[in-house]
Formats: sequence, structure tokens, C-alpha cells
Amino acid sequence: MTTEAVAITRELSGPPTGGSAAVLEHYQRSVMNTFGPPKRVFVRGEGPYVWDADGRKHLDLLSGLAVTALGHAHPTVLSAITGQIATLGHVSNFFATPAQVALAERLTAMVADPGEARVFFTNSGTEANEAAFKITRATGRTKIISTEGAFHGRSLGALAITHNPKYRDPFAPLPGEVEFVPYGDADALAAAVDAETAAVVLEPIQGENGVVVPPAGYLARARQICDQHGALLWMDEVQTGMGRTGSWLVHVDEGVRADVVTLAKGLGNGFPIGACLAVGRAAQLLGPGSHGSTFGGNPVAAIAGLAVIAVIERDGLLDRATELGEHLVGAVTALGHPMITGVRGRGLLRGVTLAAPVAAQVADAALDAGFIINAPRPDVLRLAPPLIITTEQLDGFVARLPELVDGATKATRG
Ligand SMILES: *Cc1c(COP(=O)(O)O)cnc(C)c1O
Repeated sequence: MTTEAVAITRELSGPPTGGSAAVLEHYQRSVMNTFGPPKRVFVRGEGPYVWDADGRKHLDLLSGLAVTALGHAHPTVLSAITGQIATLGHVSNFFATPAQVALAERLTAMVADPGEARVFFTNSGTEANEAAFKITRATGRTKIISTEGAFHGRSLGALAITHNPKYRDPFAPLPGEVEFVPYGDADALAAAVDAETAAVVLEPIQGENGVVVPPAGYLARARQICDQHGALLWMDEVQTGMGRTGSWLVHVDEGVRADVVTLAKGLGNGFPIGACLAVGRAAQLLGPGSHGSTFGGNPVAAIAGLAVIAVIERDGLLDRATELGEHLVGAVTALGHPMITGVRGRGLLRGVTLAAPVAAQVADAALDAGFIINAPRPDVLRLAPPLIITTEQLDGFVARLPELVDGATKATRG
């Protein structure tokens, strides 16, 4: 980056004096308290590392919630974004741009033969799911089947298909006739879907619920059940898609065809972008005037998505995610630690299950030791490292894990 660009970002965001404590004090007085107190203030990132405002380096094993799959400040993504924004930054959806169309073609090719799928671009995962929700309404049916433990976002439509009562209840009434069935139970799904069902919405792996993998064949059964009743199969790949799990899309990898697919997190490597893909008849359900977005499909966001796809292909990162994921499972399992009961997930989306509800304490201890992970459930640690991480960097974390787990276990007992 030019020194001028660095200087202006410093000037606009304020001088980094007083370190984290000073920034957090200002945060608390100016930012809405929806997330609780931030655990760190970060000022810079490079590859798998981020540095906080006190100069401490951290290994980022969470990638900003499965987002920065190519690591921080990836040179190709950086060049693509700066090149696009210097050329043309925004025009609205009254107009088209080459970047938007190129990304539309790349994404639709991941789910269907040429010409069979269409995309609606958004800025986030929850908005991609809102677009999908509208597609389901355009079928003329209104019933949706979702699953226990599902997470699909925080806007009201996405919240209606999200299961956690803590997120839902304060905002009732939510739209739609939504029924929740146990995740991974194909018989329960078969019993719930009928001729009134507009769609079945599923995460191929439940990320926010603690990286829960359904039994083999579950997605294929869901496809059959939807076909029997003329319901749409809507796959939410916001967290699992775009290489995170070792393939572009989990359901495609399993040979399952979806009618609607939503994407976001890994798509722009941190530049906000989401997408709702629809295939076949579902691709024709929304017509002119039925949906819209000012920013969706913005050429800068689109070029970020194109750069991500190009780098993943060029560097063979799908296979790399699979290999590293297996390496991680082997390394954690080899610890033979009595508190670690298993490692689940796929590729580089992993949940380490613990024998006691100490995951939040382990995640805090890890942060103090310079590793970013999180605890989606009281007894599950989530790891979603960038696909560019090295085996040595992963091993460095695994080597410290026993001490972190022991420390948290003792602290909660004592
Ligand atoms: C994170 C997530 C969302 C919501 O995405 P946002 O960009 O936070 O709105 C939706 N679905 C799944 C499966 C997710 O993991």
C-alpha cells in the first residue's frame, strides 16, 4: 500500500494513542451494546496473523467467523479491490458491471449447467436468506421447515427460520409458518413436509450450533422428500461454502441438487458480499420489482469474490483445506487428552468437543496465549483457520491446547 493510503487511514481512524483501553472506552460510549464488550482491539492483519492496539500478535484460527479464508491483506484480493474501486466503485442496480456479471457466471456454474441458475447479490448472509425467503413465498405456498439448532441470520425473515429462542422470542411475532424438526433426522423431515410446504431450509453442517455434521445421506434424503411434495430445497451454505469445507459447496460435493443456495461469509474474504443462487424453476420466481438492493452486486464486492475464487483455484486451496482439516483431527486426537472427546466437521470448519462446559474459558485462555478461536456452545471450541495457514502454525496451537484446556478446567473447578 502507498504511504499516502496508510497515512489517510491513520488520520481518519484517529491516532493510535492509549492502546486498546482508550479505544474500548470510546467504543462503550458510542457503539450499541449488541455484542457485549469486545475482547480485543485489532489494528492490523497479515496472512494468518492480526495485531492488537497494544502491539500483541495473534494467530487467527477463526478468520473473523469463517470469512477471511485467504488470510488478512491477501495481495491478490487487495490488488483486485483497489484496482476496481479506482476504476469504478458503485453504480446501483439500474446498471450492470462486468465484475458483477463475471461473478454471477462463476457462482451459477458451481450449482448448475450454463443458463440454468440465476443469482441475486446481497451484502450479507442474512440478506441472502431474505432473498431466498421471498423466493419461497413466490411459490404460492407459505410453510417452511427448518431444523432445531439452525442459524440463518438476525433480520426478521432469517430469524423466523433460526431456532434459538433467545434470539427469536424478544422479536415475536416473526414472519411465516415455520416448523422446526430435529437436525439430521430424515424421518422427522419426511413426517413434517407436505403439499403445503414451500421449502425445507438446511445448513449442510450446522456452524453456529457447534459444527454439527448430519448423518451420511441426510441431504440426499431431504432432496427426495422435497421432490415428493414439490417443495424447494434451500441450502444455507453461508458458513460452509466457498472452500471452507474443502469444496465450493458441501451439497454439490455430495451430489445433491438444491433449488436455492445462500452464500456470504467466505465469498469476499472480508469485503461484505452475499449471494442467493436459484436453480431451474426457482430461478424464475422473482421478477422485475419483486426484490432489490442498493449495494448488492457492487463491482468492488464482486471483484473481491472473483479474486477469492481465482486464488483458491490457483493455489489448490480446496484440497489444502481437506488435507489440513484431516491433519488437525489427527493432531488433536493424538493428544489423547481426557477432556477432549472428539473433533467434528469437515475441511477447515471444525468443532473440538469437550467433556465439560468450559469452552468459553478455554477460548479466553487461548486469546491470552495469542490464539483466536471461539466457543459456539459451552462444550465446543470452533476452529475456522484461513485456508492458507501452514501445518506448523496449526501444530503450534495444538501443542498448547492441553495446557489451555487444563487451565480452564482447574479455574472453573477452583
Ligand atoms: C453467519 C451465518 C448467517 C448470517 O450471515 P450474516 O452475514 O451474519 O448476516 C446465515 N447463515 C449461516 C449458516 C451463517 O453461519
